[in-house]
Order: sequence, then C-alpha cells, then structure tokens
Amino acid sequence: MEVKIIGGHGGVTRNYHATSYLVDEELLIDAGSVAAGLDIQDQLKIDHILISHAHLDHTKDLAFICDNCFGLKGKPFEVYTHPTVRKAIKDHLFNDTIWPDFSILPTPDKPTITFNDLENEKEIILGKYKIMPIHVAHPGDAMGFIVTKGEKSILFTQDTGPTDRIWEIGRTRKDLVAIFSEVSFPNRMQNIADLSDHHTPASIGAELLKMPKDVPVYLGHLKPNYQEELLQEIADLAEPRVHALYADDVRFNF
Ligand SMILES: [Zn+2]
Ligand SMILES: [Zn+2]
Repeated sequence: MEVKIIGGHGGVTRNYHATSYLVDEELLIDAGSVAAGLDIQDQLKIDHILISHAHLDHTKDLAFICDNCFGLKGKPFEVYTHPTVRKAIKDHLFNDTIWPDFSILPTPDKPTITFNDLENEKEIILGKYKIMPIHVAHPGDAMGFIVTKGEKSILFTQDTGPTDRIWEIGRTRKDLVAIFSEVSFPNRMQNIADLSDHHTPASIGAELLKMPKDVPVYLGHLKPNYQEELLQEIADLAEPRVHALYADDVRFNF
C-alpha cells in the first residue's frame, strides 16, 4: 500500500497543509487538504473517503472537491463516517449557508457527495480494502481506522489523546506494517493537549508502550507554529521506530 501525505499537519500555513492521507490514490482518509494538494484529475480518482471527525482541519476540503468535481465524476464521492460526524458536516458545512448542499446537487438521486454511516468496531469492505473503525479519545465521536489490503494492515488513529482500545485491537493484528498517529503540541503545553484531546511528545512516548511492538510509527498533525520544538522533542524520545511527518506531499510504501 502507498500512503501519500497530501497534508500531515494540524493547521494551515503557506508551507503546511491540514490532514489528508491518500491510500493508493483512491482511498482518502480525512479531507483537510485534498483539494489544495491534488490536481482535479487526481481528485476525480477518489471514490471512498473516510472521515475521522468533524473538525475543520479534517473536513474543509470536502467543500472544495465537490465544487471542483461537480458534474465531472459520474458518481458521488462516498464518505464513510460516524453518524455524529455526518450530522455535523451536513448541519454546519453543507447547509446551504456556508456552502451548497452537494448531497442533493445536481439532483437528489445523482448527488456529488453521499454519506454512509460507520459503526464502532464494525468492519466494512470498500473495494480492495477492509476498514475497521475504532473510537479514539477526541471530541465528536472521533474514530481511527485499521485499513487492510491483501496481507497488510495500516493503523491510523488520526486526532486523539491517550486511548486504549485501538491499541488493544492493533496488538491482535499480526499483519500491521505501519501506524500513523499524532503529536500536536510541545511538552510545555501538556495542559492544552490534555484539554483538547491531543498528544505531546511526552504523552505519545507513554502511548508507544501500548502500541504493537516493532511496527514503525509516523507522527503527524504537528501544529505549524510549534514544528521546530516538536521535532526536537520527538528526536529526544530516541525511539528509532518513530518518524515525524514534518513535510507534506510525501509518499510511503508498505
Ligand atoms: Zn485535527
Ligand atoms: Zn480534531
């Protein structure tokens, strides 16, 4: 499986884009920068979109891919997410005030985007992929995902504070080849990280002990204003299996 980091950050600046990971150019995980970071012809190749939670840095480009690809795709973007997240996106983004309701445009029976509900720990199959959604510790019924294709699985927590269940399930997966998780704030901001259900290098360091052993760990969602500090503190963990997603528009093959 290839994972392209379209945007791997927890914020937006000229150089850094919000969270969107693309698996094999067809399965999108979060939509923080999929419109800003891909050409329209590549946006059109995406059929299935997993949304971890409703926060804007994971959803805002749903608005712009619908606008870009309107009338060009021949079938809707199929979004899969928790019902709480679906409701938030429909009520607050595609609500005909902030943005047109592309779930009924151009017509209700041929929309640009369709929403499908995920249930916690109920596996679904999307084409070549098996997806296991698992609740993590972040507001609004946020979920992480274990994505399996053939004999390999990749675990994506997306935004979360300290959590247990996804690691418990991850430890049973002998086919796990990579873990993508997050670190948002430097250690001096542990209080903010705790209040907002995010990690610092110190708390992800403790979390590593719960993760499946010997699997490489990629940490994204660095807040752009703290990137340098975060990189130093991640290096100070001295964990050879940990890699920081300091740059966007990079690809990893597993
Ligand atoms: Zn986020
Ligand atoms: Zn969030």
